[in-house]
Amino acid sequence: MSARWSRRGFFRLAAALGFGLPAAARAKTGPGKPAATPTWRGRPPLVVCSRGPEWGRPVSEAAWQVLASGGGVLDAVIAGANVVELDPRDDSVGYGGLPNEEGVVQLDSCVMYGPTHDCGAVACLEGIKTPSRVARLVMERTDHMLLVGRGAQRFARAHGFQVENLLTEQARLEWLRWKENLSRDDDWLPPRDGIYRDRQGRRHGTINVLGLDGAGNLAGVTTTSGLSFKIPGRVGDSPIIGAGLYVDNDVGAAGATGRGEEVIRSCASFFVVECMRRGMNPTAACLAACRRIIAINRRNGVTIDFSDKFVAVNKRGQVGCAAVMGSKKKPPLVAWRDGSGFHSQAGPYLLTGRGKNWD
Ligand code: ASP
Repeated sequence: MSARWSRRGFFRLAAALGFGLPAAARAKTGPGKPAATPTWRGRPPLVVCSRGPEWGRPVSEAAWQVLASGGGVLDAVIAGANVVELDPRDDSVGYGGLPNEEGVVQLDSCVMYGPTHDCGAVACLEGIKTPSRVARLVMERTDHMLLVGRGAQRFARAHGFQVENLLTEQARLEWLRWKENLSRDDDWLPPRDGIYRDRQGRRHGTINVLGLDGAGNLAGVTTTSGLSFKIPGRVGDSPIIGAGLYVDNDVGAAGATGRGEEVIRSCASFFVVECMRRGMNPTAACLAACRRIIAINRRNGVTIDFSDKFVAVNKRGQVGCAAVMGSKKKPPLVAWRDGSGFHSQAGPYLLTGRGKNWD
């Protein structure tokens, strides 16, 4: 091998590891800290959740209980997702999720099963608390992969799902606050007593649950109410296979949360899995997807004021996460449960955005 080629090889390797990039685009575990791509080893079987301990613990525990009692890996990840979907305290997933701009909750979800490479998804689904279960039925009981809106709801009703009001009182008040503060040039006025004065802005939130069983089979689910106060009919990345979720039984699984439009246009979960196929560990693969999103935006001269986060697990049970944006106080988090118990770790991020919860 000539000196020229080996030097090129070195630079390629360095780029893959994050060296040689502008300082601002290096992975941080805190502002100013150098690149780090930690990978946390779980022991298969294990389940992974894209949240910190508050939700990560109950979600991964529910999923783990299914796996540990001999259930399938897809049953397990859906059981984990159902914990958040059914809990009205979380305002970004399932029942209690923040509505669209007309005050209607519209849910997106998809599932993917490694051994068969099958997938199913629903988008803009109204009135059903557990869209992940409907997505699974699309996969198993139709010859399609994605059902949307009224068709998705009719399909769910045919399978015995109840149509319920998903808009909780808290979510309705949040929506009203947003609506009344939207413009000075309309007829909606915030209350004079100022109860709504603290406008929180629009929010993201989603959950990915990934699983690896003892036989090395993978499955994943992503579920969300999407971007709060979105245009009715808007579909984010969460129900799009390859964007909000991707599973390859030979390699690993990855899921995304955050600004869905960026995830869709970079096919990001697929990209993370393909990076793992080329030998990157899960954290490095998640960072590569974040770098790609930043590069696309910088090329267009866009100031990055959003975040996307990725979580991934490979066939060996290594777990990783990374985000476009984070801060020392609010780094990206990943949680997992294996035979040794519950674990949660912070991952690297590329840009610093203080004060917001990017998760
Ligand atoms: N990715 C989701 C969407 O764009 C929302 C989120 O994860 O925050 O719909």
